[in-house]
Amino acid sequence: MRKLKSASATDIESRDRKVRETVEQILEDVARRGDAAVRELSIKFDGLDREDYRLSGQEIEECLSKLSERDLNDIKFAQEQVRNFAEAQRGTMLDLEVETLPGVFLGHKHIPVQSVGCYVPGGKYPLLASAHMSIITAKVAGVPRVITCAPPYQGEPAPAIVAAQYLAGADEIYCLGGVQAVAAMAVGTETIRPVDMLVGPGNAFVAEAKRQLFGRVGIDLFAGPTETLVIADETVDGELCATDLLGQAEHGPDSPAILLTTSEKLARETMKEIERLLEVLPTAAIARQAWENHGEVIVCDSDEEMVKVADEIASEHVQVMTKDPQFFLDNMKNYGALFLGPRTNVAYGDKVIGTNHTLPTRKAARYTGGLWVGKFLKTCTYQRVDNDQSSAIIGEYCSRLCALEGFAGHGEQANIRVRRYGGKNVPY
Ligand code: NAD
Repeated sequence: MRKLKSASATDIESRDRKVRETVEQILEDVARRGDAAVRELSIKFDGLDREDYRLSGQEIEECLSKLSERDLNDIKFAQEQVRNFAEAQRGTMLDLEVETLPGVFLGHKHIPVQSVGCYVPGGKYPLLASAHMSIITAKVAGVPRVITCAPPYQGEPAPAIVAAQYLAGADEIYCLGGVQAVAAMAVGTETIRPVDMLVGPGNAFVAEAKRQLFGRVGIDLFAGPTETLVIADETVDGELCATDLLGQAEHGPDSPAILLTTSEKLARETMKEIERLLEVLPTAAIARQAWENHGEVIVCDSDEEMVKVADEIASEHVQVMTKDPQFFLDNMKNYGALFLGPRTNVAYGDKVIGTNHTLPTRKAARYTGGLWVGKFLKTCTYQRVDNDQSSAIIGEYCSRLCALEGFAGHGEQANIRVRRYGGKNVPY
């Protein structure tokens, strides 16, 4: 394996520390001063001063009226694809009850979280697609109260985001961004009732705020600045690889984009194409910073080596364009989502095809997949024993195991049942 281009950013730790400290202060401020803090922070970071950050029915109508019929239909089409896939996934989440010994029934039920806050990012771009990904998925899971926050875009609620939030079925829509939004949803304020769980992607501040709030509320996963990995061989050309790398690098200056290939010729062609595209891409100012600081080009000797390196990188998105994409589906272990073959790509997944775009970053793909209907369901177990003899048999095992642990009270919980249902005289 050899690197033709390495990432140059070296200040990640000090940046992380600054983000952590900023987030700590904002969370504390919102917890202490509620709406007053939220308002001050919204003015400071997003230039939006309102008495009430919840959008009224009339404001929502106004946003909808600013969009063309075609825009609304496009949003509805995307939402239908997300809903269809989420419903199919919901169908796999079956409740279960088994009889493990005579009269011993063990089971689980999937119970929806009762209230969820969905963050829709909108600092740099009005990322309306995030509304479908979290709100629709939560509703398909059966969450009764789904509230949502998105920052203003250019000083006002972004019509396309508000339309997507509304059409997705959100119960309350707030024009609030960043840490103050996440904090308000998690801890509550005088005007916002707190939720049980926070979901949705965001920038480094939003992702860190969710991380710090975990425990007080549930979170979906660590879904910070976007990352992409393109795995390709000589079956595709440099233009396609460069387009797919820059298409994700434009998310933000902290977004890594990595090419992994067995073809040095393709690697060099891709780097040349990137320079050419950066001259014409309207979002080149952001994409160039991302590419220069976090872009990498790695040449491997075989598909097996590419799998190994890709699993170490554990990227959020992995686009596979090789002669045998199935090999990567069969063998890769660490990724947020796979995009197999040149006919699909990360933008399809991000915007419309139906799989969820809220995905793990910063190597969280080692231990979690992305947001999906299962994240909104609590798998809660229960047990029932309908048979005296089984109760007494399990009671005897339990009593001895409790003695090994020195738990006298637990042991007596077992012993009393051995006496009552087994007719044996077990002393205290
Ligand atoms: P955002 O809505 O996440 O963040 C904007 C907010 O950040 C602002 O409202 C402001 O309140 C806050 N903020 C900005 N600078 C701040 C500072 N110095 N101190 C405190 N708060 C500050 O929008 P964005 O910035 O455009 O970022 C969206 C992010 O979401 C991108 O990084 C993108 O890559 C990521 N994303 C990730 C996924 C995923 O699944 N992992 C999916 C989509 C998008």
